[in-house]
Amino acid sequence: MDVTSELYEGTLDCVHCGLCLSDCPTYLDTGRETSSPRGRIYLMRGVAEGQIELGPGVADELHLCLGCRACESVCPSGVRYGALLERAREQLVDAGLRKGQGPRLERLLLRSLLARPARLHAFISAIGIVRALRLDRLARRLLPAALANAQALLPPIPPSPLRAPLPSWTPAVGERRGRVALLEGCVMRELYGAVGRATIAVLTRNGFEVVVPEGQACCGALHAHAGDLSFARSLAERNVVAFTEQGGAPYDAVVTHSAGCGAAMKESGGWLPGRSDGLAALTRDICEWLDESGLVAEPGRLELRVCYDDPCHLVHAQGIADAPRRLLSAIPGLELVPHAGASDCCGAAGTWSLGHPEMSARILDAKLDAIEAASPAVLTSGNPGCLMQLRAGVEARGLAIRVAHPIELLAEAYGMAVPGQR
Ligand code: SF4
Ligand code: SF4
Repeated sequence: MDVTSELYEGTLDCVHCGLCLSDCPTYLDTGRETSSPRGRIYLMRGVAEGQIELGPGVADELHLCLGCRACESVCPSGVRYGALLERAREQLVDAGLRKGQGPRLERLLLRSLLARPARLHAFISAIGIVRALRLDRLARRLLPAALANAQALLPPIPPSPLRAPLPSWTPAVGERRGRVALLEGCVMRELYGAVGRATIAVLTRNGFEVVVPEGQACCGALHAHAGDLSFARSLAERNVVAFTEQGGAPYDAVVTHSAGCGAAMKESGGWLPGRSDGLAALTRDICEWLDESGLVAEPGRLELRVCYDDPCHLVHAQGIADAPRRLLSAIPGLELVPHAGASDCCGAAGTWSLGHPEMSARILDAKLDAIEAASPAVLTSGNPGCLMQLRAGVEARGLAIRVAHPIELLAEAYGMAVPGQR
């Protein structure tokens, strides 16, 4: 970090007002100023000015941050905390401060597994076999802690048809209103194939032809959050080609069904200035796109009491809170019930929960208390990490609450049963 860098300039936007402190989960948990947004910005600035040594203490505080970006939503000075954090973490990697077994394993898994669809598919299949043979307890004892935690968080592995690639083209139903591309995602494809199929079904039912372009890559969000910005840039470059430079006529939108992927694609202009701006401008979350373009097909009745929990990377990173609620409210019979702290982080935060299981559990507990008090039949959220964390929490408490993506409920309201859907 140096005083001429974009990172340093960004830290100067902070006026130290402290308005973000009461929204920061790590500050609330620890009570430490250095674990707050203001404290972390002060550390970044101090390092750039040569007042603070870039060492393990700074690295620990920057990696204790969930990257939830709740601080951005309340900041009166418009500090772009998420971008600062990504760049600061990249510098920790460059300075050799991410060396232990955990960071090495994380980098290896993100680069060599998550971004390689065939390997990820084989890995998830292997987990399915281990579970079917009831060897998961043994695996938990043998695996490194972070991997064991990850294995325990995964939902039931979907049946093979739901893990197959999405169709490359699906025509619009009825009058065609436009043509959109869909980012299939890595975790979404392997663990939430029902959501991908529901997304296509709802889009086509509302007049959109859906293309799933070849050559698309993982969005790079988790790589960027881990400080591996160079790899995130290489993935963004592949997506620029797949979504904006091939496939004939331009798309009306590039739709994502994962809040984390959507935020990464919208912000990829910062990773590849001048190169990814077109892709960033085209990207829409599925709820945002349907809300913006309007539903032309009338949903059927669903007599359900439903809570909607905001994914951080939808509400704080993309500023989208109302669109999913409006869509759910458009379903006749569905009662949308509010719960306290709906826009607070659930404690998943990508791979963060794997390295901080105790704090993650405390954050999740507060969320589950509020959800339990609201007593819904279905809890909805639009991000794979949140869906996994919430499902695991609901199951651990023995609550009779189904956890689903909002688009799954909309698909059900259209009478579209996805085979094998949970
Ligand atoms: S991103 Fe979340 S955890 Fe990190 S400083 Fe901001 S509010 Fe706190
Ligand atoms: S709210 Fe914004 S300006 Fe105020 S301390 Fe937090 S980051 Fe700085």
